[in-house]
Amino acid sequence: MFYTSTRDKSLKVTASEAITNGISKEGGLFVPCEIPTLTDADITEMVGMSYIERAKKILALYLTDFSKEELDYCVNGAYGGEKFDSEKVAPLCDLSEKAKVLELFRGPTCAFKDMALQLLPYLLTTASKRAAPDKEIVILVATSGDTGKAALEGFKDVDRTRILVFYPAHGVSPMQKLQMTTQEGQNVGVCAINGNFDDAQSSVKKIFTDKKVAEKLSENGLMFSSANSINWGRLVPQIVYYCSAYCDLLESGAIKMGDKMNVVVPTGNFGNILAAYYAKQMGIPVGKLICASNSNNVLTDFLTTGTYDRNRNFFTTVSPSMDILISSNLERLLFHLSGEDDAKIREYMNALSKDGKYTVSADILEKISENFAAGYTDEDSTLETIKSTYEEKNYLADTHTAVAIKVYNDYEEKTGDNTVTVIAATASPYKFAKSVIAAVSGSAPKVPEFEMAEILSKETGTKIPAPLAGLKDKKVRFTSISEIEDMEQCVYDLLGI
Ligand SMILES: *Cc1c(COP(=O)(O)O)cnc(C)c1O
Repeated sequence: MFYTSTRDKSLKVTASEAITNGISKEGGLFVPCEIPTLTDADITEMVGMSYIERAKKILALYLTDFSKEELDYCVNGAYGGEKFDSEKVAPLCDLSEKAKVLELFRGPTCAFKDMALQLLPYLLTTASKRAAPDKEIVILVATSGDTGKAALEGFKDVDRTRILVFYPAHGVSPMQKLQMTTQEGQNVGVCAINGNFDDAQSSVKKIFTDKKVAEKLSENGLMFSSANSINWGRLVPQIVYYCSAYCDLLESGAIKMGDKMNVVVPTGNFGNILAAYYAKQMGIPVGKLICASNSNNVLTDFLTTGTYDRNRNFFTTVSPSMDILISSNLERLLFHLSGEDDAKIREYMNALSKDGKYTVSADILEKISENFAAGYTDEDSTLETIKSTYEEKNYLADTHTAVAIKVYNDYEEKTGDNTVTVIAATASPYKFAKSVIAAVSGSAPKVPEFEMAEILSKETGTKIPAPLAGLKDKKVRFTSISEIEDMEQCVYDLLGI
């Protein structure tokens, strides 16, 4: 099994090379040359397995240059022990007979990024021993909040790696900020930037692909890799939980073999929903992939009209991890849907960086409509949805999950499609306690973040997740703020080169 680049189809690399390099040198993203398939017998076999066993089976199909022992080591390390506070790792909860919430936030940082970022350091260190044995890996992350913390936690004190995280100074929740600024570990660095997430991400991408920077690192025995969802090693673990959710639906009797499930995903960078698309291509019977956005609804417009246009107002919302106007992983989808037309992808991506927009061909749009539905919701209805879901279904959703629930409710009402649906729940409500309290009780008291979490716990009779409760006693280690233009220097400073 080999990987190629969305912008240069002539390239052919192994899984280890794709994961070690993160992004292809001409700026394209690595994609599998062929998507492996699961038969009905494979799916039936997986029904009786644990999450860890399912993960090993799926990953073995994609990471063919990893030995069985290596995969065992990686997967056991990521999901074993007490790292996740659910035995099922990603449990399904009933909202109704037809709607199930897939809880992806039961890991050490209480957001779905843990699903991938607990595994990625294992994959990356295993892969880089083969693909770049003489280099220490530098992970550069731009984060809208949750990736940064999950990556820091995944990579902290991992041998032969360093990790640097940039976050928008005013674009993350107080809890997210505290999670990052108190991060422990000898090989970590954290810096706020004056700009939004897209600024941070564009700048990281530029530093990442700059030859001069790469040379300077190389002279110091270092090389960049990426923990952003552009890295294939971030995407592949996410395919697992959609396959696993289908098995759990079969196991519980909610569906029969071959029945479809729809999937709703609160979307930002398009990584999570793209993983569900790969699961569908593998043979998991997925009906519609429903893309849920907040007021930054660039994807809603794109998936319904075929025109991607980032020239619009950027909103800072109560669901900050979805405040994104450039969804990097869309490039992978377009590559597959265009019949692997790398010239076309170069044309679209050049237009995106030059004019901020592009329009896909009619046949791509048709394939999009066959597979995807899309909707968005504004701030007020996100908060109303948290309240009504709590009162009517006794389920406390965070601000991102609520966007997905609202878009699902709208979709069902509009289309009458009553296929069993898996709604991805991407964060603990305690990560966004202030907004969640305001939603449930009408207003949020003016108190520090921790008291907010305590009030939420009292009011709803739910427990503060242990990793968040523990933050209270941690020391703030990182306080610097950088301008966008100074990020490159900031990287050198943090690396001490
Ligand atoms: C990252 C994140 C998202 C968006 O996921 P993408 O893979 O970027 O589409 C949604 N919700 C939460 C809580 C997140 O952390």
